[in-house]
Amino acid sequence: MNQLSDRINNLSTSQTLAMAAKARELRAEGKDIIGLSLGEPDFNTPDFIKDAAIQAINDNYNSYTPVDGYVELKEAIITKFKRDNNLDYTLPQIVVSTGAKQSLANVAMVMINKGDEVILPCPFWVSYAEMIKLAEGTPVQVETSIDTDFKMTAEQLRSAITPRTKMLWLSSPCNPSGSVYSRKELRALADVLQEYPNIYVVSDEIYEHINFIGGHVSMAQFDDMYDRTVTVNGVSKAFAMTGWRIGYIGAPEWIARACNKMQGQITSGANCIAQRAVITALNAPPSKVQYMIDEFKSRRALILDLLKDINGFKTNEPEGAFYVFPDISYYFGKTIKGKTIHNATDFSMFLLEEAHVATVTGDAFGNPDCIRISYAASNEQIIDAIKRIKNILN
Ligand code: PMP
Ligand code: GLU
Repeated sequence: MNQLSDRINNLSTSQTLAMAAKARELRAEGKDIIGLSLGEPDFNTPDFIKDAAIQAINDNYNSYTPVDGYVELKEAIITKFKRDNNLDYTLPQIVVSTGAKQSLANVAMVMINKGDEVILPCPFWVSYAEMIKLAEGTPVQVETSIDTDFKMTAEQLRSAITPRTKMLWLSSPCNPSGSVYSRKELRALADVLQEYPNIYVVSDEIYEHINFIGGHVSMAQFDDMYDRTVTVNGVSKAFAMTGWRIGYIGAPEWIARACNKMQGQITSGANCIAQRAVITALNAPPSKVQYMIDEFKSRRALILDLLKDINGFKTNEPEGAFYVFPDISYYFGKTIKGKTIHNATDFSMFLLEEAHVATVTGDAFGNPDCIRISYAASNEQIIDAIKRIKNILN
């Protein structure tokens, strides 16, 4: 008998993590799988950050930390917000968490009531919809397409708003499309929100530095949005620190206080050694990690060039993050190697089983015509993977 709660029974498995686990499993069986599913930099954490962690261990940082993070870390976050985003936050507005994922989950739990609607421009990051559902909210998906660079327009936002709308969640640069909202585009969304003062925004800026066109804009930079925007960020992507598990928010104080309270009952403060290391990471100038961003930029050019030679891949030029999100609906209804492809999930599984390349179905991100390919991999892996895909499809 299934004794589990309805809550967990109704929760979907994270498909990014599931695909990574499946690739790991196949590799353990001896299959040569190229993993382009997980959004994770393939660089090592820079030495200057690792040294700070080693120092923290030797300095006996081993006790519980304040729930919302060490004061020195919160000060480093405040400095970073001012330096990189021209945002002014004070200590009680900052909460450090065990990854941006926890920061987002905290916000969902403290802001959403049963039946509240949360607008998600599609494609959206895989975990948003599930977190919102866990909080008993209703995700409202706004469809976009490759023709508009997968961005939601002001008109689309306006038509999605109902009396039940509580929040808008968006990531820029976007996972999975790589789209970057310009100041003008964000301002147009903010203009609509001016008419609805009770709608709050989650601005997920974890790919802020992985931006190939420059000019990152934070929603909270608009004076009229500052008091109702939660700015989410973390160190996983820019500093190649996915496993260290540190994320943070800058938010109106009452929201930050609520997140602190939530976290105090669920996990307490984030890992003490990782927090000390992140003080060093955030206090360093962003130029210290520019080499990774330059590398992602050259890999983007490489993968876009290689994808051009594959039939039926319609790809736009992502401006940030490290994903391409091609529309592969051309293959729906086609039979290849005896397998009929009905949808993006079939296509992604087909690539895994036949080409031994792991990607993620667009369904996970609310877009059933696409797949996500991460190019946070070496040039050799990218070249080999695309060659395999091409051989099997062309
Ligand atoms: N937001 C987005 C858009 C992401 O891609 C990810 C994936 N790492 C996260 C949040 C969560 O990041 P973290 O590793 O800090 O939990
Ligand atoms: N954010 C990454 C991704 O989208 C990591 C996986 C996850 O946390 O879901 O692949």
